[in-house]
Parts: sequence; C-alpha cells; structure tokens
Amino acid sequence: MIPGPIEFEPAVLRAMGSATTSHVAPNFIESFGNSLDMMKSVWQCPSGQPFILAGSGTLAMDSAAANLVEQGDKVLVISTGYFSDRFADILKRYGAAVKVLKALTGGVVDTEVVENELQQTQYKVMVFTHVDTSTAVLVDPLPIGRLGKKYGVLTILDGVCSVAGEEIRQEEWGIDVVLTASQKAVGVPPGLALLVVSPDAIDKWKKRSTPVGSYYSDWSNWLPIMNAYSDRKPSYFGTPAVNLVAALEVSLQLILKEGLSTRFERHKRTGAAFRAGLSALGLAQVPLNNLVAANTLSAPLFPDGISGTGFLSFVSDQGVILAGGLLPEIKGKYFRIGHMGSVNKGDIITTLSAIESGLKHCGYSFIPGAGMNAALNILNV
Ligand SMILES: *Cc1c(COP(=O)(O)O)cnc(C)c1O
Repeated sequence: MIPGPIEFEPAVLRAMGSATTSHVAPNFIESFGNSLDMMKSVWQCPSGQPFILAGSGTLAMDSAAANLVEQGDKVLVISTGYFSDRFADILKRYGAAVKVLKALTGGVVDTEVVENELQQTQYKVMVFTHVDTSTAVLVDPLPIGRLGKKYGVLTILDGVCSVAGEEIRQEEWGIDVVLTASQKAVGVPPGLALLVVSPDAIDKWKKRSTPVGSYYSDWSNWLPIMNAYSDRKPSYFGTPAVNLVAALEVSLQLILKEGLSTRFERHKRTGAAFRAGLSALGLAQVPLNNLVAANTLSAPLFPDGISGTGFLSFVSDQGVILAGGLLPEIKGKYFRIGHMGSVNKGDIITTLSAIESGLKHCGYSFIPGAGMNAALNILNV
C-alpha cells in the first residue's frame, strides 16, 4: 500500500511475462499503436500527441522540460511539495529562469496569487503537480489550465500520482502536457514514462531556436517513432521496453473497461474512506482540509510520542507495507498510504486494521475498530 509501485493486476503481470518479441514484430506494433490510442482516451485528450518512453516518471518530467524550455525562458512553478521542487531543479538544468510559488505545507497556492504573478511577468511555461506524493495535496488543474490559456502560457501538469486515479480532462481543461509514470495509477510495473502533448505545445517546440539539450529526450527523435506506431508501421530509434508496452496495453484496456468516471468515483470513495478512518483514530493529516486532499494516497501525521520506525516495521510485520515521510521539512512526522489502482474494500479494511494494531503496539490509545468502522460507513453505501 505504498504510492507506487502499486499492486498490479494478474493480467498485466502475465503480459509482462510473455515472450519478448522484436520491436518491429507485427503484434508488438499493434500493442504499441493501441496503447498510444488508448492513452488519448485515458488522458481525455483526443487531439494530443502521446509519447511512450523507456524511463521513470522523472524522465517524463525531463522530457517535457528539455523540449519546451530554452536558455533564459521564464518558467513559473507552483509548488505543493517535493516533486514540484524536483521539477524546478530539472527546469533550471535546461536553462530556465524559474520562479517558484510555494504553498504552505499541506496547502495549495491560491488561484489569485497565480494570476497576479502572470499579470506581472510574461512566462513561457507554468508547471504544477496534480497530486504531490510527498504531501498528498491535490491541486485543481482546471483554473490553472484556464489561466494558461488566458495569459498565453504553456501548462505542464505532473500527473505521476494522478493519471488514471484522479479526474483529468486534458483537452477540455486546456493543459498542454500531462505526464505520468507506469508504476502508479496507470498500473504497470516501473519503467515507462508517459506523456500526452497538446498541438499548441508541439507547435511551440517546433519553433525552438536552439536544439534540445538532451539527446535521449529530444522529441525530434521520438515523434517519428510515435507516428510510425500510430500508423502501425515499423520504426526504430531506441529499443522500446517491449514487455512493459505489452503490459501497458492490457492495463489501459482494463482502465477503459472499468470506465473513467467509475474509476475516478472509486478512487474518491477510497480516499474518503481512508481519511475518515484515520480521522476517527485521531490522526491529523498533512493536507490542510478535505478539499485539497488527494484520493490516490493519504498522508497521516504520527500522534505525539509515536516513533515512526517502530510503527512502520510493526505494520509491515502485519503484512501491510506503508511508506515513510518524504517532504524534508516534516519527514519523520508522518507516513504515507498509497491507494491507487485495484485497491478494494478488503485492502482498505486490512490496512486500517494493521494501522490500528501498530498504534496499539506503540501505546497510543483510541477506540478499537473506530478507524475500520468509519471507513465502512463510507464504503457500505
Ligand atoms: C513518483 C512521482 C514522480 C517521480 O517518478 P519516478 O518514476 O520515481 O521517477 C514525480 N512526480 C510525482 C508526483 C510522483 O508521484
């Protein structure tokens, strides 16, 4: 129950274990092409250009930054935690003049503050994180997408902890790049960087005056490959992660079979159940309120006097693996529960039960069963 790698569906793992074909084998070309087509549906961006690259989520961030930024370009980063700060570092590496608007820990940056900044300075790109996995803070992408359009600024959304878990309507919301990694809510073992890029962003990229500073990330190398697979034709630039792409095809099929609205609702209910369960146990959470709380993971604070390491190793001995804190400012003060993908009622109750056992073991007093009961009140409707 960590925020990635998540638990994978058996059908996805079976695809991982299938024979590794040539990257130009007809069945692989079909898998790659189908995956590209389905990405546009899952991202809800019919006119977008999908990219499937071998690499982790950080490569997806690197790819967006390397291709859309030139030396001296002004970039606004709206930071809600550790991963927004990482994005700022990547952008600086490619020469961007980065300004960071930092939210209070557990909060978001007000839309008016962002708009005020855009009125004062003409930025080329604005970057934000849908769910920052270090804080479990959820940002509403719609107003930021609108501001991007209003002020002529490209928008890049780090959706590594949200795509296929939290609602995203990339095209309708006017977001230029939405990127993720395979091992989170998309439900495929680690190793794929996935991006969908708007026609506007492709256009801006084509008008660059300097070459892209990263050879591997350069879309000039990858765009012809994506186009070839879309047209179901063989091509080669760098060998794709054949088995991961086969697994991606299966996972995207499962996601679309469940239906996006059903899937987003299920994640909302799961998130609400965890938050209610943790609150009933008296645990405060990093997100300042439920309106800015993610549905793909939760970030509870340890009660006073409870040692994080003792608690997490006891819970792990119960068979439930949770993650420790990540945001440097509060690292030892909280823990994280990932609940993306195929998490079911049994997983939620088992996890809360293990958390209750861990708290009891650490000498914390609470009403036994309170966490599980509160979660069940939400799940049993
Ligand atoms: C996990 C994560 C990343 C980094 O992805 P890697 O696959 O670990 O490189 C970036 N942003 C967010 C929001 C994440 O959750």
